[in-house]
Amino acid sequence: MDSQRCVRTGLHYASEERIQVTWSPDGRIDSLLPGEGEETIWIAPGLIDLQINGGYGYDLNSLPLTTDTVIQVTRRLWEKGVTLYYPTVITNGDDEIEQILRVIDAACLEDERVGSTIGGVHVEGPFISSEEGPRGAHDSRFIKAPDWGLFTRWQAASGNRIRILTLSPEWPNAADFIRKCVSSGIVVSIGHTAATPAQIREAVAAGATMSTHLGNGAHLTLPRHPNYIWEQLAQDQLWAGMIADGYHLPDSVIKVILRAKLTKTLLVSDAVYLSGMPPGEYETHIGGDVILTPEGRLHLARKPELLAGSAMMLLEAVQRLAESGLCSFPEAWDMASMLPAQAMGLTDYDGLKRGARADFVLLEKREGSLRVLETVKDGHSVYRAEG
Ligand SMILES: [Zn+2]
Repeated sequence: MDSQRCVRTGLHYASEERIQVTWSPDGRIDSLLPGEGEETIWIAPGLIDLQINGGYGYDLNSLPLTTDTVIQVTRRLWEKGVTLYYPTVITNGDDEIEQILRVIDAACLEDERVGSTIGGVHVEGPFISSEEGPRGAHDSRFIKAPDWGLFTRWQAASGNRIRILTLSPEWPNAADFIRKCVSSGIVVSIGHTAATPAQIREAVAAGATMSTHLGNGAHLTLPRHPNYIWEQLAQDQLWAGMIADGYHLPDSVIKVILRAKLTKTLLVSDAVYLSGMPPGEYETHIGGDVILTPEGRLHLARKPELLAGSAMMLLEAVQRLAESGLCSFPEAWDMASMLPAQAMGLTDYDGLKRGARADFVLLEKREGSLRVLETVKDGHSVYRAEG
């Protein structure tokens, strides 16, 4: 590989043909030509994570948050092939959310490459359901009805970076609020909800286009039908976010979501700061202590049946989904790269194509697991594996 010139060769992740990718200094792919050589390195579009709370001990939801934490998270994500992500700020006090948003904005301004890797902020809560089950591990003290004045304050604090809002349409003013969000360019995602099917339909009519980790953040027991899961499955306008770590959803549910949503399925990590950490009991601000098992399952200490986010990064989730046999490797990869870009309306993140953004990953499949060898962001090599 030539690290100086803007050219890399490898196998196309989907067609498996040997290709040569060249790009221009402005960070766009110039050409995709037949390549030469014998190496078995794969080239794939960069991963896009629409929902992530941290990882490797770095928590994006704990105060005091520093710009360095945001920068470190971003660097670790490059190591895992992520070239665009949406740091996810969960339910918290009004001022705490504002402070976290300010720090994320400051980090984007401090480091240009970090700024372009953060596609926007995902605010998950506090306008969600307060019911036990749907609210998951979100702190009930801070859950409230949608408040446009408050949201506007947060959007200003973020430097206008909030791009995704997860809410529950069960609040009486939800449809109005959704319309305001959508008209200001925010993707509204339905999640942590106890909404009726009629309220789900009203939210979709108002412009909601996504479901947040569909099938999780739900009651342990539901009426067989109708219910908010069937309704979201049936609404074709809704993209479905899925946590495919093997713990959040049984394979049968993933299969049904894939069949119902076809190409409107997204993989998210929903990774918490304990991702990549040793197993054990940890204290977190989201509802007390959590336990990370040696198998990588993360649950509330006091209620082991309730998961507290995922401890798996997107790269491993893609691999697990492909290994499950529910879809092919390229399909799983697209659910974590091309499709999230489409769901966010990012037309220039168009995969490995001429004119698309030069955001891609060089991969090696070693002993059955994927290893990132190099990550290229905006045409710049931001990570290279050693050895
Ligand atoms: Zn959640």
